[in-house]
Amino acid sequence: MNNGQKRSPRAVVLFGPPGSGKGTQAKLLTERTGFPQISTGDMLREHVQAGDEIGREVAKLMHAGSLVPDELVNALVKQRVARPDCRDGFILDGYPRTQQQAERLGVLLEGRGIDQVVIHLVVDYNKVIARLSGRRQCPVCGTLYNVLSRPPKQADVCDLDGAGLVIREDDSEAVIRERLEEYERQTRPVLEYFHSAGRRLYEVDAGREVPPVVCERIYKLIENGG
Ligand code: AMP
Repeated sequence: MNNGQKRSPRAVVLFGPPGSGKGTQAKLLTERTGFPQISTGDMLREHVQAGDEIGREVAKLMHAGSLVPDELVNALVKQRVARPDCRDGFILDGYPRTQQQAERLGVLLEGRGIDQVVIHLVVDYNKVIARLSGRRQCPVCGTLYNVLSRPPKQADVCDLDGAGLVIREDDSEAVIRERLEEYERQTRPVLEYFHSAGRRLYEVDAGREVPPVVCERIYKLIENGG
């Protein structure tokens, strides 16, 4: 497809509200492209789990559904993309979420000669709430399920490794509301910034088709823009 020429590495930014399918699409795209998934939410949850300094700083904010400080996530992403598995490209899931983060990402990628493509996953809010409140996750392999749209074969048990599924603490109703408000307040406006900064930005309807079909559409967009 690239006629043997080495192409620039690519950063695929998956953008959209909580519950728009960023994590699901990131996992499918990782299989499709070989690019690693970089989920700032997963990285932060690992710190909380470990109970280290970063974990202690962010736990309260995360449990309340608020964003954590820009400087902290910027530093995590900067370190992560410097690792060798990001050489050809990577998938950003849940970053950037503020204009400051988007600006810092722009500088970081330019400095490394990495092309950026933003995929805006568009899903109606009622669907987002149904997805988040029905979400279950395997604590061992990270596979995501939904009690309505993607139930495991046996209730509350992971199909792949038999572990008991868990509900994320921030998937409770009050916290879901706060996360969506944070999205409206701080994250949605970043779309305007992407436009004004001239980023390659595509909107993808992520509410109608099953995830593999949505993934294929994204794959075509990032491969050849059409
Ligand atoms: P997620 O798994 O992407 O829904 O993220 C879970 C939580 O982690 C969010 O509600 C925030 O508290 C925090 N978080 C994840 N990514 C970011 C980010 N880029 N900026 C600020 N906070 C973040």
